[in-house]
Amino acid sequence: VNDTTCLFCRIARKEIPAAVVFEDEAVLAFRDIAPKAPTHVVVIPKVHVERLAHATEKDDALLGRLLRTVAHVAAQEGLKDYRVAVNNGAGAGQSVFHLHLHLLGGRSFSWPPG
Ligand code: AMP
Repeated sequence: VNDTTCLFCRIARKEIPAAVVFEDEAVLAFRDIAPKAPTHVVVIPKVHVERLAHATEKDDALLGRLLRTVAHVAAQEGLKDYRVAVNNGAGAGQSVFHLHLHLLGGRSFSWPPG
């Protein structure tokens, strides 16, 4: 997967439509196409980072921006309690290999996650 073929890079470039709920110069947040909760938003960096483990020191500000965007969108969605998840690697459930944070809300969540 490279920037040309990557699904989330293509969504960031608006080549593939998505229900965008927040955007700035660095990040994009859009509704998950197969929601696992009443509110399920995916937050991505616009630059291609394959997975959390590939982030480096130069991405520190970006990682902070991603997390704060989750909190911003959660407030925008009227959520007080919510779950934030990052799947790193196929064995952990990652299916799109472009770093993304899941914001899930609108129902209760068990711990530990399955
Ligand atoms: P993960 O399994 O952690 O890699 O999460 C990828 C997420 O992207 C899944 O929850 C999918 O439902 C979601 N997804 C896949 N394709 C699209 C799409 N075109 N638009 C919005 N969400 C998508």
